[in-house]
Amino acid sequence: MATKLDGKALSEKIRADLKERLHQQSNEKGLPIPFLTTMQVGEDLPSTVYIRAKQRACEEIGFGFRHYKLPEETTMDELCKAVTEVNNDPTVHGLLVQSPLPSHLDEIEVQRMVAPEKDVDCFHPENVGMLYIGRPRFQPCTAGGIIELLLAYGYDPAGKRVVIIGRSVIVGRPLALMMMLKARGGNATVTVCHSRTTDIPAITRQADILVPAVGITEMIKGDWVKEGVIVVDVGINRVPDATKKRGYRLVGDAAFNEIEPKAEAIAPVPGGVGPMTVAILTGNVMRAAGYDVGS
Ligand code: NAD
Repeated sequence: MATKLDGKALSEKIRADLKERLHQQSNEKGLPIPFLTTMQVGEDLPSTVYIRAKQRACEEIGFGFRHYKLPEETTMDELCKAVTEVNNDPTVHGLLVQSPLPSHLDEIEVQRMVAPEKDVDCFHPENVGMLYIGRPRFQPCTAGGIIELLLAYGYDPAGKRVVIIGRSVIVGRPLALMMMLKARGGNATVTVCHSRTTDIPAITRQADILVPAVGITEMIKGDWVKEGVIVVDVGINRVPDATKKRGYRLVGDAAFNEIEPKAEAIAPVPGGVGPMTVAILTGNVMRAAGYDVGS
């Protein structure tokens, strides 16, 4: 039976540790209470759910939190003005503009507007560049969460063959970079598959650690992996389910029931990477407020 990489339990531990550090360092060093501001443009439902999870985590640790919900028709100028106001507010330490943005807004330009020292999502080109050269200011939240989850269970990527499926700026690309850095959680041999890769199963069968981050329900089948693989499933897919109150359930990109008997360890969906993403975000907010949050 595979070990379950329990991101929910680990994220609770991380929150407790951050709470302790907040208490200690705000007293000893006179640091301010960390404050996160989030912005959402439009009504994207998953975004609303993610922001609520971020708010809950912040409030549980004891951060200040404010959410701005802007109308779908918000223009670039209006969003720029709102971002600039938060950039200039010294009581706010972290600013996160939730993606996806409506298609009339330029997401990359918006990320460039966020003050780099408040960019707790690590999307600003300056912070991406700092990561690239091996001196990260913040950890990209999902990639950092995957690495911390592996390390917590004793699965150091160093020297391992890691296969990532997906090359997005949010997950696949920063994870590939972090896993090949000469640093804690890195030193892996990394292969990235994507929508144009041919014969993906032949590649995934070589993986010691497999990270699907695509968004296709149960795409990774049991015969795509070798015995003893470690699977960190990032995909979040909604499958209609009349037995659930909300009418759907969440499943990953990996066919859990087929893979679990062959795997050494597997991070389930839900309860694996999702809560870890939020945990890394909260660490970034504390770092932005001047706290030492450890490694
Ligand atoms: P995206 O749509 O930006 O990227 C998907 C990637 O998958 C692309 O790079 C594409 O090349 C690749 N891809 C598409 N079809 C493919 C195919 N048939 N074979 C191989 N590769 C293919 O998505 P994203 O933002 O990176 O998110 C990916 C998944 O991860 C989604 O389900 C998303 O909900 C989930 N996600 C989870 C978290 C979390 O915290 N758990 C965070 C971010 C994203």
